[in-house]
Amino acid sequence: MSETIFDKIIAKEIPADIVFEDDHVLAFRDINPQAPVHVLVIPKKKMVSMADAKDRSALELGEYMQRISKVAAELNLDAEGYRVVFNHGQNGGQTVDYIHAHILGGRNLTWPPG
Ligand code: 5GP
Repeated sequence: MSETIFDKIIAKEIPADIVFEDDHVLAFRDINPQAPVHVLVIPKKKMVSMADAKDRSALELGEYMQRISKVAAELNLDAEGYRVVFNHGQNGGQTVDYIHAHILGGRNLTWPPG
């Protein structure tokens, strides 16, 4: 697995606007936000993309999902709603090869996405 910008953010080698951190995940604001709230949640135990998730334990994935929900709640998005996006591969538009959940909120999001 080659090192990505998110490996460097986890290692605190480059700065990020961190909104939540614990033993399982790091959550930080996207540098190029697509909504008033745009936060990325990454697991500390690396996966490259959703394609890796099928080989991980339900416990590990559950911890990740639980943190995504917790971060969204702490960002006060539960009442008005939000979107969680995982991009995978070329057609999905993935640009960083370290799995990341986009939490997008703070405006009415259109569907379908582009
Ligand atoms: P993807 O297209 O891979 O799903 O999303 C990658 C996201 O990472 C993009 O929304 C992009 O703006 C964000 N991003 C890329 N480099 C950095 C960085 O150095 N810091 C932060 N905070 N976000 C980044």
